[in-house]
Amino acid sequence: MNELSPGSKPPEIHRAEWVVPVSAPPLRNGAVLTHRGRVIAAGPFAAVRRDSPAGARVTDHGRAALFPALVNAHTHLEFSALRGKIPFPQPCFREWIPLLFVLRAGMGPQAVDEGLLSGEAELLSNGTGFCADTTNGWAGVGRGPVGAAEGLSGESGCCAFAACGPAAARLERRIFLELLGFNLDSVAAAIPREFLTRSREAAKKEDTTLIPVPHSVYSVSPAIIAESKEWTRARGLPFSIHVAEHLDEIEFLQGGKGFCRELLEMVGRWDPSWTPPGKTPIEYLDCLGALDSRTLLVHAVHMTEADWALAAKRDCTVVFCPRSNRNLSSGRPWIEKALSLGISCALGTDSLASNTDLSLFAEAAFTLDNHPSIDPQKVIEMITVNPARSLGCKSDFGSIEPGAKAHMLAVEIQSGIDESNLAEALIQTGKEGAWKWVSSAQS
Ligand SMILES: [Zn+2]
Repeated sequence: MNELSPGSKPPEIHRAEWVVPVSAPPLRNGAVLTHRGRVIAAGPFAAVRRDSPAGARVTDHGRAALFPALVNAHTHLEFSALRGKIPFPQPCFREWIPLLFVLRAGMGPQAVDEGLLSGEAELLSNGTGFCADTTNGWAGVGRGPVGAAEGLSGESGCCAFAACGPAAARLERRIFLELLGFNLDSVAAAIPREFLTRSREAAKKEDTTLIPVPHSVYSVSPAIIAESKEWTRARGLPFSIHVAEHLDEIEFLQGGKGFCRELLEMVGRWDPSWTPPGKTPIEYLDCLGALDSRTLLVHAVHMTEADWALAAKRDCTVVFCPRSNRNLSSGRPWIEKALSLGISCALGTDSLASNTDLSLFAEAAFTLDNHPSIDPQKVIEMITVNPARSLGCKSDFGSIEPGAKAHMLAVEIQSGIDESNLAEALIQTGKEGAWKWVSSAQS
């Protein structure tokens, strides 16, 4: 870029001891040129300054590392008002679900909305710029920039994003509308009518759509899983589902018995015509045509060797939520196995109903502490470029490269850190909160 349009704010050169693009090796004494909220170039400081237009303003971030805003691959912001209401660890998933049902039933719309706002603020305050938010229908529809009806009825394309927060640090969301209905035979039947009405009204004002996805293999009929996958595939959108999270799910698919069956009967959703497939959750999803490169498998705690091989073959992304699994005593995900097979891996915090905070840096630090053989650079990718790619926002988020949004963090880096331990230092320092947002003029 050589010319500035009259009246526009000048480009900015952000210099720092480190620039960590993630999609390329770290740069020492690097710089990022930004203009109108976008990255124009990243490289060695001298080269960036030499090639910048006259009048570009230099901001020196000293010893910091410039790092892209984090991408949280799985959360439920509508549960944010439940922070601290459920003690951890819970003895098991079947003990936790009744607590969640009771607490959720006691939350009025105002509590849900206040929780949403506080959850969004917490994500931002922990360095997250983009999240995949899963909702049962309360995700701020009608209160903010969210719409849905046209997309949900399959009548049009969509952009499926919502945004909030000040311009310098905006949180954007990919919103999944979570379907429930084991005894229902279509996506339309599983979407509450009052939700459609509210979202139609919101869609008149905004250009955002929710993506209907099944909650899990034990709470949604096979017809809905297949239809919703087809709906997302036809639009090139991501598809997300909780899978292999706990042993009750495995037992249910094998023989149609156990806690999941009891739960469905209790809520009046059991379908007596359903035949247990006798498969693992991954095999079952594959038979329903639900596995491909746009599918995000959330949790994946109880996987067989064949399941891992199938997830790799279908090029799925696996979203791990290790602190949620620990808090619900669900098990320890085999992240090392997924990485060894070259599977695209991401991290999510899950919600404040199963976690103590929404800090992705804390999730990454927990992963390093509990999986010490994993290369910290891989964990960096799990909170940036990998989820950005699988959620369809890679052109804007997940790396510092030309064209991306200039949503960056300046993370303090101690002296003595070199390229070999930079990734681990980033995660630990990020968890301690020693970072700040790097603002960039939008105009
Ligand atoms: Zn979840």
